[in-house]
Amino acid sequence: MLNTSAHQTVPRTILVVEDEPDLATAIAQRITAKGWTARVASDGASAVRAASQLKPDLIIMDIMLPVMDGIEATKRIVAERPVPVLMLTARDAESDKVMGLGAGADDYMTKPFSPRELIARCEALLRRVERATIIAKNLENEKVLDFGSLVIDPRQRLVTLKGEQVHLTPTEFDLLATLARKPQSVFKREKLLEEVWDWPDASGTRTVDSHVKALRHKLGSDMIRTAHGVGYAFEPPQDDARNER
Ligand code: CA
Repeated sequence: MLNTSAHQTVPRTILVVEDEPDLATAIAQRITAKGWTARVASDGASAVRAASQLKPDLIIMDIMLPVMDGIEATKRIVAERPVPVLMLTARDAESDKVMGLGAGADDYMTKPFSPRELIARCEALLRRVERATIIAKNLENEKVLDFGSLVIDPRQRLVTLKGEQVHLTPTEFDLLATLARKPQSVFKREKLLEEVWDWPDASGTRTVDSHVKALRHKLGSDMIRTAHGVGYAFEPPQDDARNER
């Protein structure tokens, strides 16, 4: 069986949230051509409703939307059910990306983009989620990573910080778990891209940086150390004296 063709036959439902009708139609056509099912919502509030009814496999979400913007809509959607979200930003603004990733998006593309690349990114995202699900199933015996105030449960894909559950996107979780399995080891950004994102080349190392930013925002800035010019390392919280194991 060829890996490259395996995903073309799997039925997928993609929710496209975009208020520009021409662009929404163009994206939906690409998705349909791929053999997937496309549904379009043109504002944030209907996106939240559609996500809840359709339970899509992936959401393409524009940020600038009427009624409710894409950031707020994404927050509400992923709070209800984890789903990969690819965000569309109008500008190449770092703040938009960080906000989008903080809200629960897994990836982003800046307009204007090539529809071909958009589909390729969707495929990569779906592949990652699928792989993570398979890995989770194979991890029945994987130990909970207990760092005292921070506990990472790979099987349930749950993270708690000081007893409170932290909502991480699938990508954020994979990034954190990858780093935390080898505390204090520096991972090159290229290595992380390969392991977490399944990207064979190093063209997206800034994606790693953005997700690290989002993780630091949720967990505190000390948890992930920057090794300048190299990559990142997980630093266990300094409070685990009572939880030795
Ligand atoms: Ca828009």
